[in-house]
Amino acid sequence: MKYFPHPMDLMQLPCGGIAELDVDTGLCYRCQQCMKIVGSDDMPQSCKDERQKWNNWKELGGEGWDYKIPQSYPDDWT
Ligand SMILES: [Zn+2]
Repeated sequence: MKYFPHPMDLMQLPCGGIAELDVDTGLCYRCQQCMKIVGSDDMPQSCKDERQKWNNWKELGGEGWDYKIPQSYPDDWT
């Protein structure tokens, strides 16, 4: 049976990747671009840098990154 991701199970990453809820654990998100667990040390440096940039901005009082998938996301994902 094919696993169809629900939009609620998706996360938009600052690096431009889309993360999907890890089906094995259901506890963490896996970037569909680099196939690494989001927030893990395995993430490529470029992904980490993007996350860090947004985290820093948030600490300075910025809005921070919105991980929700935008409403304009293609219909075939729903
Ligand atoms: Zn990534």
